Amino acid sequence: MSKIRVGVLGATGAVGQRFAQLLANHPFFDLTVLAASDRSAGKPYREAANWILTEPMPARLAEMTVQEMSTELDCELVFSALPTSFANEWERKFAAAGYGVFSNAGTHRMDSDVPLILPEVNPDHLGLLERQRAERGWSRGFIVTNSNCTAMPMVMSLAPLMQFGPQAVIATSLQALSGAGYPGVPSLDAIDNVIPFIGESEEIKMNTESNKMLGRLNGQGVEPAGIKISAHCNRVPVSDGHTVTLSVSFKDKPSLGDIMEAWQTWEPLPQQLKLPSAPQPALVVRAEPNRPQPRLDRDAGGGMATVIGRLRPCEVLDVRFVCLAHNTIRGAAGGSVLNAELMLAQGRLEAFVAGVGAHVSA
Ligand code: NAP
Repeated sequence: MSKIRVGVLGATGAVGQRFAQLLANHPFFDLTVLAASDRSAGKPYREAANWILTEPMPARLAEMTVQEMSTELDCELVFSALPTSFANEWERKFAAAGYGVFSNAGTHRMDSDVPLILPEVNPDHLGLLERQRAERGWSRGFIVTNSNCTAMPMVMSLAPLMQFGPQAVIATSLQALSGAGYPGVPSLDAIDNVIPFIGESEEIKMNTESNKMLGRLNGQGVEPAGIKISAHCNRVPVSDGHTVTLSVSFKDKPSLGDIMEAWQTWEPLPQQLKLPSAPQPALVVRAEPNRPQPRLDRDAGGGMATVIGRLRPCEVLDVRFVCLAHNTIRGAAGGSVLNAELMLAQGRLEAFVAGVGAHVSA
């Protein structure tokens, strides 16, 4: 099968660079377009992007010219790392023009006809795409979103525990600086400090997005899971990797052993399908009393695994534990790439294979 040509929107930013890294040598996707704002357009990528990843910029991308935003890009799918303010308009324009859009922005996640996907948790929610296309009049294009990077490790930890009926969650996040993009939080605000505010909507997203992902697809849309979630979101001076501490109550009062077994035996769809970006296993459960830690655990499974530890009883709710994931890989670019791999495996990207169908300028 020939590779599907893909582009990255917002290619110079923190998430855009991860996309560039993950797509530079992908077995199914051929990265043909790097696009960003007018500030970067026309420059070689090596000049436009202030490369912040520890591995070098992929050589073949360094001389690619960054393109301006347009719905006439030479690709079939776009991975969007646009700021929310621009994502709304541009992602709709791309989908209307026939591109498949994999979005990291918060803009469309809670739209009732837009799938908000963690492939291990709710791959069936891709069924919303039929409704999306019918209602928006898009014959080929679509928008699929991935989760907020802090909700993501919490939802991955709770998904295998849905069988026990989680009812209430108190979640406290310790979020990395790269979660604010580049250059992000000023150094004098961040160093030697904890900032107990990420933005007006972060704690709301922890609640609404998590309940959507853990919810059930019915005929009309997604019925939220109905879990009460009280979130406290904090920025901490860590470069990459969001940690979330959780206290959870359950209707069925599972033992610690039941919970451990549910995590350790979980083998969801992307792992069964052996998708290239699917970590094996999806969840890494650490036994040490002082794990997970961002510096030691964020790169588990190539940055795609969710690492869990410190499972113990809770005096207020039922159990407590800690989870962690790499925010710009699993919580952003890698999550989007896995969504695309899943859709390809399900035959949902047939119209985007070279020579089949076409996008139209809009
Ligand atoms: P960022 O570092 O600030 O990067 C923003 C990118 O968007 C840059 O490439 C920038 O290009 C481009 N851009 C800005 N204005 C534009 C415009 N008018 N037209 C076209 N491109 C424009 O932000 P980020 O952290 O990568 O976040 C990108 C998106 O992912 C956001 O929606 C964010 O909420 C979401 N997200 C981020 C994370 C994370 O951990 N960082 C996790 C999950 C989701 P120039 O360099 O040319 O200005």
